[in-house]
Amino acid sequence: MAPGAGASPEERETPMTTGTDPHALHEQPVIVGAGVAGLMTALHFGNRPCVLVSCAEQPGIGALRSGVAAALGADDTASARAGRTLERAAGLACLETVQCITAAMGNVIDTLGRFGIPVAAGARDSGYALHAALLAAVHVRPNVTILAPAALRRLVVVDGHVRGVILDTGSRMIPLDTDAVILASGGTCGLYDDGLSPVTAIGRSLAVAARAGAALSDLELVHFHPFALSLGNTPGSGVAIPFELYGPDAILHDEQGQKLEGHTNDPAYVARAIYERRAGGHAVFLDLRKIVAAGTQNADPTLKSFLALCHARGIDPATQSLPVRPAAAFHIGGLKTEISGRTSLPGLWACGEAACNGFHGASVLHGNPLLEAVVCSRFAAEDVTGRMPVPFRDISGIHPDQSLTKGLLPVVRKSMAAAMAPTRTEETLVSALMHVSRFAEYDDVALVAELMFLSALKRNESRGAHFRADFPKPDAIARHTSFTATEAHTAVRLVGRDHPITWSPDAPTKTELFTT
Ligand SMILES: Cc1cc2nc3c(=O)[nH]c(=O)nc-3n(C[C@H](O)[C@H](O)[C@H](O)COP(=O)(O)OP(=O)(O)OC[C@H]3O[C@@H](n4cnc5c(N)ncnc54)[C@H](O)[C@@H]3O)c2cc1C
Repeated sequence: MAPGAGASPEERETPMTTGTDPHALHEQPVIVGAGVAGLMTALHFGNRPCVLVSCAEQPGIGALRSGVAAALGADDTASARAGRTLERAAGLACLETVQCITAAMGNVIDTLGRFGIPVAAGARDSGYALHAALLAAVHVRPNVTILAPAALRRLVVVDGHVRGVILDTGSRMIPLDTDAVILASGGTCGLYDDGLSPVTAIGRSLAVAARAGAALSDLELVHFHPFALSLGNTPGSGVAIPFELYGPDAILHDEQGQKLEGHTNDPAYVARAIYERRAGGHAVFLDLRKIVAAGTQNADPTLKSFLALCHARGIDPATQSLPVRPAAAFHIGGLKTEISGRTSLPGLWACGEAACNGFHGASVLHGNPLLEAVVCSRFAAEDVTGRMPVPFRDISGIHPDQSLTKGLLPVVRKSMAAAMAPTRTEETLVSALMHVSRFAEYDDVALVAELMFLSALKRNESRGAHFRADFPKPDAIARHTSFTATEAHTAVRLVGRDHPITWSPDAPTKTELFTT
């Protein structure tokens, strides 16, 4: 890894600024997000000017379990990875996209090397190390202007084409005119109150894109990592136990010592089994003692780095079973894109976890999110740099029209936990939808949740990461779900017609929600 890499989030400096004069950034492509996808996109712009916007430095990649080299296919072949991806996708992957991304896998490590970020096969560099190295590489590029902290608040669309963005720095709104915006703003797993995902991963920019008219796809598909250590809920603080450690010698049991049935290599199945046992009022534990005893002798690197994380938290898997629960770790759905990253809205691209291009299908293969972020950022950067520029429009008089609300995130998280868990039913989904949809017009987080509930209601089947207890089998034909904000509005009215709304007593009133 490059010098400066490997730093923990606390040690890293924030080499970013919001002091830049926006007029100096006139008509440059704007990348939203400084995770792996956003930083790689910026590097792929070569020496062309671009603006990189980020609301926080905490990336999703920090929690990476596999090690960077393994995720990027250092020990894999394109055809083997494509085969496993299609198998996991449960009929919903786009074959061309899978072939295209896995074929590019062979060049990824070389490309990182050219950017000054060596990745050694077999090494177990962490997600933090990769992110810190990318940030350092972007920071020395004179063509990249970094605006942070700044959050995307609105896309300005004129005549059906993106013409600008409005950014919120906390103290002021900055309008930037641009005809190309690349959303690399990560996923929505922070909408779950389980501590694994970054606090910024709440999908606000998906809502911004939806309000601007872009279509979103397969939003019901959320990958749950089965084994989050059940320690606390501070966002981004959780520990994920590597799924590879769940071999035949690992035992899942409840607090009475009762084993959970069926050993499988499908994380979605295991996550559901744990969720359902916990929903029945039990605690669930993973006993890795045999694995630890054998692995310590063999110096297994996955085990070694996991043990280090545990020891830092005062836990010893050699002597105790670990309390576990499933936690949302990757949003498979997102902005509907082509492989080039183009969305349905001209002038808007997406890559990384924010995008849904058909690579993963209905369930995610270990390592593929990172691979996708690294490969598709190049496709997006190339497509943007090859575009025909659109004439400039002055957007300085435009301000965001939806109000900022406060205090809604806890309400949405409660509804997400109830309705978008590993097991779903129409009843819980409708109730959650009716609960949050009245705020969707004003609040970005509520709009994202509304779109997710509607997508899960629309998928009247079980497939991959999506399990409906009331429709436990897959349909004969695999279909994608897709919604625009306008379609969602109509759908909510239709659902509401059949299900009279009963507000729960703890729902805040509109007056309580709005910032004064
Ligand atoms: C516990 C856990 C374990 C994982 N393990 C693996 C693994 O082993 N292998 C693997 O391949 N993947 C894994 N993943 C998934 C992987 O980490 C993510 O898919 C990947 O990091 C996404 O990168 P990204 O750049 O798309 O988004 P992120 O890294 O989430 O970056 C998004 C960026 O956008 C910014 N942002 C968000 N909203 C806005 C806004 N409105 N305005 C401005 N900026 C905004 C954020 O501040 C952040 O800088 C794991 C995820 C978790 C949570």
